[in-house]
Amino acid sequence: MPTPYSKQGSKRTSYSAGRKTNRSNNTQSRTGSTFSTFKSSPLAKPSFKGNKSNYTSNRRKVSSKRKSSSFERIDVSRFINKSTIIEKEEVYIPTHTFSDFGIDSNLKKNIASKGYIYPSPIQDKSIPHALEGRDVLGIANTGTGKTAAFLIPIINKVIKDSKETAIIIAPTRELALQIEKEFIEFTKGMKIWSVACVGGVPIFSQIKNLRRGCNIVIGTPGRLLDLVKRKEIDLSNTRSVVLDEADRMLDMGFVDDITFLLEKTSKDRQSFFFSATLPKPIENLIEKFANNPVRVVVKTRDTSKNVEQDVVRVARGIDKIDVLTELLTGIEFKKVLIFSEMKHAVEKLSVELIKRGFKAGSIHGDKRHNERQRTLKKFKENELNILVATDVAARGLDIPDVTHVINYEIPQTYDTYIHRIGRTGRASKKGTALTFVG
Ligand code: AMP
Repeated sequence: MPTPYSKQGSKRTSYSAGRKTNRSNNTQSRTGSTFSTFKSSPLAKPSFKGNKSNYTSNRRKVSSKRKSSSFERIDVSRFINKSTIIEKEEVYIPTHTFSDFGIDSNLKKNIASKGYIYPSPIQDKSIPHALEGRDVLGIANTGTGKTAAFLIPIINKVIKDSKETAIIIAPTRELALQIEKEFIEFTKGMKIWSVACVGGVPIFSQIKNLRRGCNIVIGTPGRLLDLVKRKEIDLSNTRSVVLDEADRMLDMGFVDDITFLLEKTSKDRQSFFFSATLPKPIENLIEKFANNPVRVVVKTRDTSKNVEQDVVRVARGIDKIDVLTELLTGIEFKKVLIFSEMKHAVEKLSVELIKRGFKAGSIHGDKRHNERQRTLKKFKENELNILVATDVAARGLDIPDVTHVINYEIPQTYDTYIHRIGRTGRASKKGTALTFVG
């Protein structure tokens, strides 16, 4: 059997003196009883009664901290938003069921055994076109069911012709592995093979698996590029291409790698591009590599509306970690995702929290791949209830029931902020996002 991929083939709360303060009474907190009354601080119930004029001073304080050109100056007031109503999920009436799709019966069985009954909007709107061979441009983010929207048509293609190959490019290892997991579930019992080509794990086992032959490679741009350059992956006959979270890959500086990979694929390829936003360089990629794609915009519920957002101001002289510790002792902080900017800061913070008796773990780029996976699993299964992460490590992850997102460091951009806080307040549940400022 040919082995397709083988070589041959608005308000503000200050948590300083045990009550909300404004700038003028911060002095008081500096001198005195900062922690003694902390428990009575309104951490769990920010009252959102700040006054607008305070924002200016907050903004100045925050923006002066960083001068990096990639750092967007975000008005602190944008980190504050009271969530009063939990938005009801808009009911989408699908126009198809999975059994309507002209796909293989075993694939239908595997879809059903995953518990999928009705297609999500993006699946409903794109799968019929994709099955006809059309290119797809999905303006959608994680949580919309976009993975199945591209996997189902691609798997069906491979079932019809075992020589078919596909490449799926994702920004992070975690997302790539999540896609592979879903792929394995959809192809159960079908003898269709995939290889995950991600960084952070030895390349040789991936090479070994590629040489055995597979139909689908799923990977991150850097590792895929490496394997193509080593001639372990030959894309010349690859007729299905997926760019998942294209805008994230752009942010991460992968645009040249992606362009290189796409150029190597077959000219009569079918392309699936997914992106939450459409910055110019992504539009250019689409223009260059997609052929009159069906454009599906999935207006996801703005999860941030379900997220109560507030800031945590740390008065001078108070240790930020102590404020965080105090927060985390609140019983409502059941499953907390904490973001920090640098890998070493993430590690340090998680170690410190463990020392202080919390069940914490960390994921960041300096951790070995297996360690990251283990930590994620523990967090998902509530063995850990605090996960400290960098933005890159947490991108695209689907972690249920996160009660709080804490921005221990202010994110670089507002877009990143929205991505971070979207990890909570999912599935119509209320979430809380707190951002440390000052
Ligand atoms: P995704 O946006 O692809 O990461 O999918 C988000 C979540 O929705 C994942 O947990 C999927 O397993 C789940 N999902 C995707 N499509 C469906 C469907 N049609 N019915 C039920 N769950 C789905």
